[in-house]
Amino acid sequence: MNAAGVAVLIAALVAGTASDAGSTSSRPGSIAREAKPKPAADTQVDVRILSKHRPARLRLDGPRSLEVVATGNTLIVEGRPQPNALRLDAGRWHVRGRGVDRRYEAALSLEARDGELIVVATFALETYVADVTASETEVDTPFEALRAQAITARSYVLASGKRHDEARACDLTHCQVLRGEGFARHLRRARDAARSTEGIVLRLSDGAIALAPFHASCGGHTAEPVAVFGAPDRTGAAAVPDRCPASPWRAVVPRTRVSAAASDVLGGPAQAEDLLLDRDSSGAVVRIVDRASGRDARGDAFFRALGARAGWDRIRSARFSMTLGGDQALLEGQGHGHGVGLCQAGAALLARQGWTAEQLLAHYFPRALPGKLAGK
Ligand SMILES: [Zn+2]
Ligand SMILES: [Zn+2]
Repeated sequence: MNAAGVAVLIAALVAGTASDAGSTSSRPGSIAREAKPKPAADTQVDVRILSKHRPARLRLDGPRSLEVVATGNTLIVEGRPQPNALRLDAGRWHVRGRGVDRRYEAALSLEARDGELIVVATFALETYVADVTASETEVDTPFEALRAQAITARSYVLASGKRHDEARACDLTHCQVLRGEGFARHLRRARDAARSTEGIVLRLSDGAIALAPFHASCGGHTAEPVAVFGAPDRTGAAAVPDRCPASPWRAVVPRTRVSAAASDVLGGPAQAEDLLLDRDSSGAVVRIVDRASGRDARGDAFFRALGARAGWDRIRSARFSMTLGGDQALLEGQGHGHGVGLCQAGAALLARQGWTAEQLLAHYFPRALPGKLAGK
């Protein structure tokens, strides 16, 4: 290349850099980055992570490497007490500790509370959506079902508001499961699913983003959202027949645990033999009534209390019947999860039959329509 050619090339490079200003270029160290507008609150999601592990000590590797320990309410960073919360810039962090080995692309904030590290990760919205989509689905989930899951997860987290003191969401089923990066191939497909639906959410007829829930398997019929979560409905879902397998389950639970779960939700002592289970046409328990006291409670609250008392893996759904015998209760049910909104087993099956994400969402959320987030 002659001198004139080099000059032209340099001019082009300079022009290219100049035209970068205000774009979303993430070139490290680029001056143009300074001009990037600050992201709006809804383009980031802060998540309380590792709450189930209750870590007291973590090793963090990423933009920096450091050892963090919680001693009482004191945070020790690299052996030195730190007066305030530790804030770490966004980057790829490898977080390790007892039973913990996870990777997050996020900014991190750590505090010590009662000997436990309270870790909050702040993700770009789309990074969060991709990670949740990977964490919440099976490895062999068809791509269109992943796309439907991504739109559902994005809608849910934006509509749910702040669900925890420390953060908008936790990383457990209470909010949406977020395992951190892992199982590479699945995450790559989940990222593609998030990218191909970027900024798309489900909206209710009043324009609000739908609080769009999902579950593992409805067992043949999804549940009416108001019956499970109460009124007013913000999910955009409706009870619809589904083609997923029935996925039956049975559990034998000590009668005392049923009584204890009922007492938890009825707000007073109750006995299993006095309970009346109100079930809707899909078989979901929508209400329990204590015939002795006349008190009643929502079915989903009873389902959750039973799960807490008898094991989440055993009480798989709110669609069940109960038979008492001796000091045991036999619960027989169908499905896995609360049954409202997107049924993952059904979505995977229908996607294999050629349904698109849009068709899946129209099926499970007939009272919502997909639309773009403002500014996208
Ligand atoms: Zn939560
Ligand atoms: Zn289903």
